[in-house]
Amino acid sequence: MEWRDEIYVLLKRLAEVPGPSGREDSVRSIVIELLEKYVDKLWVDTWGNVIGVKCGSSGGGKVMMTAHMDEIGFFISHIEDDGFLRVIPIGGVVERSILYQRVLIRARNGRLIRGVVGLKPPHIAKPEELQKVPELRELFVDVGASSREEVEKLGVRVGDIAVFDREVVELTNMKVTGKAFDDRVGLLALIKAAEMTHDPKIDVYFVATVQEEVGLKGAKTSAFAISPDAALAIDVTIASDVPGVAKSEWYTRLGKGPAIKVADGRGASGLIVHPKIFDTLISLAEKHNIPYQVEVIPGGTTDASIIALNKEGVPAGTVSIPARYIHSPVEVVDLSDIYNAARLLKVFAEEVTLEWLREVKGIVIK
Ligand SMILES: [Zn+2]
Repeated sequence: MEWRDEIYVLLKRLAEVPGPSGREDSVRSIVIELLEKYVDKLWVDTWGNVIGVKCGSSGGGKVMMTAHMDEIGFFISHIEDDGFLRVIPIGGVVERSILYQRVLIRARNGRLIRGVVGLKPPHIAKPEELQKVPELRELFVDVGASSREEVEKLGVRVGDIAVFDREVVELTNMKVTGKAFDDRVGLLALIKAAEMTHDPKIDVYFVATVQEEVGLKGAKTSAFAISPDAALAIDVTIASDVPGVAKSEWYTRLGKGPAIKVADGRGASGLIVHPKIFDTLISLAEKHNIPYQVEVIPGGTTDASIIALNKEGVPAGTVSIPARYIHSPVEVVDLSDIYNAARLLKVFAEEVTLEWLREVKGIVIK
């Protein structure tokens, strides 16, 4: 199968299942199935991070690569007497993207139930209400039930989860759309890189993390356990190449290759990428004719920020896949950017040496 078809099929599998933060199990079982074939060791830790290791030939040195399994979503917080559900957000749900969406609820018994996010009819709203984005507490999920008893009979309880309900479909020109591309596209690039990496010199840890969207939590605990010598996070980044955005704010563009990050976030919450990681990624991309773009963004961050602060500090960087409409149910990416991100991770995994890791980690002066 051509890489393009293979990536599309894998993306459909990974992105269509529900996996909000703390409830990543449906994603995790797919990751285990796919990653198992390509690594020498594989385990799931206390928090649910999946860690696969490809052992290197030097007998030392550890590089950690992460992509997060979780997506934004909702917890059912209340069931009304007349069968409507109220929800609270998991992670950075954008309020204006919620109304009139279809959602997929996973009941505690594993049953998947569809619902829609409703609001009182516009015909009976006050004019000023029609002008504003409704708050989440005004919205409700309608599963077609007419009483709390009916909802409970479906198996749905307070504390169950919901995510946007979207199939992955292709637009044109290698562009695809769906939910949870943040960060299932990164996860896909990570798994593909594990498949393509042969005979690394150092140990490469491929880590599918949990709870990134609620504070980079799985990356923190897995980095502590692994204690890597260098790290890369693979995540989506802001493709703002759309109407209404000044060209000076087009931070990355779809289809122009993975983005090699310089810096993200704001101050304490962001990352300034270690210059040697940045330089190495650039020279590897150039050496292997992998298209790339350089990324400096004013907000958002990735698992790399917290891994960089592990123990005495870890040189860390980020390889990003540009995505439009992040955290909406209609995220858009270019399939070639996923593939080229995987190629870049593969050459990084294969070409990093123990000597390079020693150099990056610091020098003894005296
Ligand atoms: Zn993400």
